[in-house]
Amino acid sequence: MRKGKINVQTENIFPIIKKFLYSDHEIFLRELVSNAVDATQKLKTLASMGDFKGEMGDTRIEVKLDEKAKTLTISDKGIGMTADEVEKYINEIAFSSAEEWIDKAKSAGEKNGIIGHFGLGFYSSFMVAKKVEIHTLSWKEGAQAVKWECDGNPEFEISDIEKTERGTDIILHIADDSEEFLEESRILALLKKYCKFLPVEIQFGKETEYKTEKDEKGEDKQVPVEKDRIINNPKPAWTQKPADLKEDDYKSFYRELYPMTFEEPLFNIHLNVDYPFTLTGILYFPKVKQNFEVQRDKIQLYSNQVFVTDSVEGIVPDFLTLLHGVIDSPDIPLNVSRSFLQSDGNVKKISGHISKKVADKLEELFKNNREDFEKKWDDIKVFIQYGMISDEKFKERAQKFCLLKNVDGKFFTFEEYKNHIKTEQTDKDKKLVHIYTTQKDEQHSFINAAKERGYDVLLMETPIDSHFINMLESTLEEVSFVRVDADVVEKLIKKEDELPSKLSDEQKETLKPVIEKQLENQSFQVSFENMSESDQPMLITQPEFMRRMKDMSALGGGMSYMGNMPDTYNLVVNTNHPVIMRVLEENDEAAQGKLVSQLIDLAMLSKNLLKGEKLTSFLKRSVELI
Ligand code: ADP
Repeated sequence: MRKGKINVQTENIFPIIKKFLYSDHEIFLRELVSNAVDATQKLKTLASMGDFKGEMGDTRIEVKLDEKAKTLTISDKGIGMTADEVEKYINEIAFSSAEEWIDKAKSAGEKNGIIGHFGLGFYSSFMVAKKVEIHTLSWKEGAQAVKWECDGNPEFEISDIEKTERGTDIILHIADDSEEFLEESRILALLKKYCKFLPVEIQFGKETEYKTEKDEKGEDKQVPVEKDRIINNPKPAWTQKPADLKEDDYKSFYRELYPMTFEEPLFNIHLNVDYPFTLTGILYFPKVKQNFEVQRDKIQLYSNQVFVTDSVEGIVPDFLTLLHGVIDSPDIPLNVSRSFLQSDGNVKKISGHISKKVADKLEELFKNNREDFEKKWDDIKVFIQYGMISDEKFKERAQKFCLLKNVDGKFFTFEEYKNHIKTEQTDKDKKLVHIYTTQKDEQHSFINAAKERGYDVLLMETPIDSHFINMLESTLEEVSFVRVDADVVEKLIKKEDELPSKLSDEQKETLKPVIEKQLENQSFQVSFENMSESDQPMLITQPEFMRRMKDMSALGGGMSYMGNMPDTYNLVVNTNHPVIMRVLEENDEAAQGKLVSQLIDLAMLSKNLLKGEKLTSFLKRSVELI
């Protein structure tokens, strides 16, 4: 036996290891299992190069709990270590890298960033153990098995032991304040979280499965069968070649990732890059609900199949955090703080690449099967619109496949739509006016009027649509958007040819106070428009600009001081409608008032604004008039 002291340059780091990242103690298990995986992979490499000629045997990694002895053991059948190697790797290299890590973590001063997830390595075991033993037998011929032991002081012991199986056992004597790590359920959950897709099989205890057998009477019965519980899928879908995978494989991998989700994904994107960085992964487009109730932070980040985090902001473009799936890249620096990560050039490149891949895939789907793409549109439009609003490059790419949907359920690309409306909807300033509705039912009469006039009306019913419209207006040249009820149909698109008015200016002056009187305390602006005789006599419109201001403030678009903006309405009087002439010619003041009230109420009714007492008196008056 030999005793020694770990080469401590700074103060004793063990208490620091223990106290540091308090919330992250659990990562010790991932670090130790990753080491076991590495040791196993190294042996496989040696075998493939012909250096190791022995029997590989079963290379399964085993995690064992002994509640009585209060130990947790991680055993592998990997390369193992000789006494010299323990001295070098554990006492020197691992120790100094742990020291380095602690310095970094201290100066980063960040508890929840990515730092703390990687780099602490073997010594992270002292976060939860009061004593750690390593029992190891190297793969080298004639090697002597050794035991290393350390109880949390910088002193260690190395001694020869009997061990016949190649590989390493790491035995943790769990500290009194960390006894949660002696609970089977806790360890199981941790293994499931961090090790679910590690490339070497990991066994933890047993599990019971039920098999159907026939009993004496020939009837089915359930028989419990004990078997080894394997934690991981060593060959997850993203590590395989896209050509080897079928649609169903992607779907079942989705279920593997999200066992609690029952909804199927719409489609997936298999990422596979090896230059200028290594990146693999599968991203899924989930089915989302119209009300924008999407769940972020479903993408999991891995490094060589080791789980790192499921909060990927800064790594994945913001709009893609709405997607699900996995990204695996050893090139993302994992032992740095999150703020560093966000400004890292490599990470930016990765993020840009993912965005490009997603755009390519969407374009491919659109080109190959437009019908299917249109069917999925309602589910994917939120990603595409959000992407176009927040990612300049994506916006450029998406112009090829982003669709506009009209009230008849027809789809158009921007280019197609331009051609579709250009004859009817170009105004006198050569602007292409896009007419839209935010509420098909409520704005029904306006939609009808626009359609009769030969205009097309787009559906823009989701909250993100208003931002999308602003973005399009500033991107597409010579394009403007106007909601279908923003003005009377004649004025929606301002053209040269105005209809003449049957009312003279004097007659308008006479009529205005008569109407205003009936409006009582409703603050509508009364205006006159020369519309066609067949249009309605009076109409309520909501000017585009004021309505958008209100919508934006309701969405919290940085104008919260306008939070309680009232709605602004115009009451438009059709100067050419015969009924308006009749109002003017009516000599009996009471009858005139009644007629005006009736016309105002009808206008309100078609805008769904007539409610309560007003509706009651309208009904009463209508009966009287009949
Ligand atoms: P890292 O894994 O980042 O190199 P660690 O502190 O986790 O740092 O481990 C240090 C070294 O100890 C490893 O590089 C490896 O050489 C050796 N080692 C750790 N665990 C094992 C193991 N289970 N089998 C063989 N060697 C191991």
